Amino acid sequence: MMTEAFWKTKRLEDLNPQEWESLCDGCGLCCLNKLEDWDTGEVAFTSVSCRLLDGTTCRCSDYPNRQAIVPDCIQLTPQEVHDITWLPPTCGYRLVRDGEDLYWWHHLISGDPETVHQAGISARGRTVSETEVHVDDFEDYLVDWPLTVGKR
Ligand code: SF4
Ligand code: SF4
Repeated sequence: MMTEAFWKTKRLEDLNPQEWESLCDGCGLCCLNKLEDWDTGEVAFTSVSCRLLDGTTCRCSDYPNRQAIVPDCIQLTPQEVHDITWLPPTCGYRLVRDGEDLYWWHHLISGDPETVHQAGISARGRTVSETEVHVDDFEDYLVDWPLTVGKR
């Protein structure tokens, strides 16, 4: 008998730690700096990455110590996933939050952590580190590709 995939049957709150971690597709998009319009609250992505993001692997280069180095790094929790409005539409946590299935390129579907990059979803190769850009110039790096959704 086939069992349904956990992300289709469980709420975020009910995932065990291993399931929770596996929902991240490794896109790196949440590690990009964002600009918020103070009047409208609208959030826009930039291609300027957090200083700890490895622009090739799209992984945090010092995950265990990240919060000592980047104090505003967000530790995603079910509550955070419900509250944050800017998670990219491809984010595994957002999809499960919204009752949607994962995309074909998610490693839990494809079995391959490289497919998120091959599908052009991730930040691989298209970021610049915040160590190289003055914060006043971030608006020159506004991008809309973190909001792009590939084919199902
Ligand atoms: S946007 Fe979501 S899926 Fe992508 S790296 Fe961040 S938490 Fe993981
Ligand atoms: S500290 Fe690591 S996990 Fe946090 S935003 Fe930066 S690269 Fe991402």
